[in-house]
Amino acid sequence: MDYDKTVHSLKCPKCSHGMTEISHEDVVIDRCTHCEGIWFDDDEAHVLKLKAGSETVDSGHAKEGWKWDSRTDIDCPRCGKLMEKSADSSQKHIWYEVCEDHGIFMDAGEFTDFKEENLLDWFRGIIKGRRGRTAP
Ligand SMILES: [Zn+2]
Ligand SMILES: [Zn+2]
Repeated sequence: MDYDKTVHSLKCPKCSHGMTEISHEDVVIDRCTHCEGIWFDDDEAHVLKLKAGSETVDSGHAKEGWKWDSRTDIDCPRCGKLMEKSADSSQKHIWYEVCEDHGIFMDAGEFTDFKEENLLDWFRGIIKGRRGRTAP
């Protein structure tokens, strides 16, 4: 849906369509009505990641996200500065766009990946911990 400031909360930095607010518990994020990329203010992505069922906000298909993944010269929807492409410090295969002052943008499917992968890491941590304790 074309961006209309009376209807949408933000203009999508990737595809320039309108974004609407989606909430999960007390966290409100903005999701694009077209490419379904998600904008997270500040560290909302990390806050949301820890909440049960929060992957439902990432309703877009990763396939749709990949189409847009190559488009990296995007501007922060809050301040208009060019955002930096950055890899997650613990999940190097996940790349997203970052504005140091305002937040991060993820393509459709990336938040689900971001969240799942962390659960996996968490389980690995538990297994490792158990082994550590039972080792002679
Ligand atoms: Zn978009
Ligand atoms: Zn900004």
